[in-house]
Amino acid sequence: MAGVSRLQYTTEARLIRVMCSGRVDLEFVLRAFSNGMDGVFIGGCRLNECNYITHGNYHALNMVLLCRRLMEHIGLNPERLRIEFMSSAEGILFAEVMGEFGNKVKELGPLGKGEGIEENELKSKLAELRRLVPYIKMVKNEKLASRLTHAEEYDKLFTRDEIEKLLSEVLSYYIDPEKCQACMTCAKRCPAEAILSAKNQIHVIDQEKCIKCGTCFEVCPPKFNAVMKIPGGPVPPPLPEEKRKIVRKSKEK
Ligand code: SF4
Ligand code: SF4
Repeated sequence: MAGVSRLQYTTEARLIRVMCSGRVDLEFVLRAFSNGMDGVFIGGCRLNECNYITHGNYHALNMVLLCRRLMEHIGLNPERLRIEFMSSAEGILFAEVMGEFGNKVKELGPLGKGEGIEENELKSKLAELRRLVPYIKMVKNEKLASRLTHAEEYDKLFTRDEIEKLLSEVLSYYIDPEKCQACMTCAKRCPAEAILSAKNQIHVIDQEKCIKCGTCFEVCPPKFNAVMKIPGGPVPPPLPEEKRKIVRKSKEK
């Protein structure tokens, strides 16, 4: 409506249309910041006015509340991310909010510089957060699906301590070389191609590529039970390639 009514709003904004605000993934927001955007604004339909049963705007709200805490954790000002709910007929409100947000972002300055974070440090912090998005979403799945009814609850959905704990106790996955039978199930199902796999070779997880989704843990057959969860602490070094060959008992005879 703002465009049709020729209303003026900040010229620095670039609009990306999605079918529902619930489609705006945490990864999209972090990617925008990684690509140098100084602020991200999400406009959703009014809460409880969703045309469908999905109520994706609640998901968007929870994602924003989580993302703002993650931003705080890495030293970014959470005010660089904003969500507002309005109907498509409220062009004047949209133009006002966009103008206000544009001014706020200008006041905060360029991303990172405004907070005094060095460029490379910020890049690596954002890259690490993006790598952990599947893990974060999996662990916080229930809260991300909740429906808050009062604005006073927003601040309490994700607390600073909770995010601190979440990121300091990230689970790592490790394949026990004594138990792996090279059935290849985990490697076929890993969404990040993080498992070094070859026929008759003990499988190894590339920790740099692993996105901590836990799929390998879930799919490793119970009779092998070879994938271990390691909370927080260091992961044992990978088995050297020359020691990965599995010698089947029947072939030893
Ligand atoms: S947790 Fe397992 S399945 Fe998931 S990315 Fe890491 S190695 Fe792959
Ligand atoms: S699913 Fe389990 S036994 Fe099979 S290759 Fe992976 S870790 Fe080894």
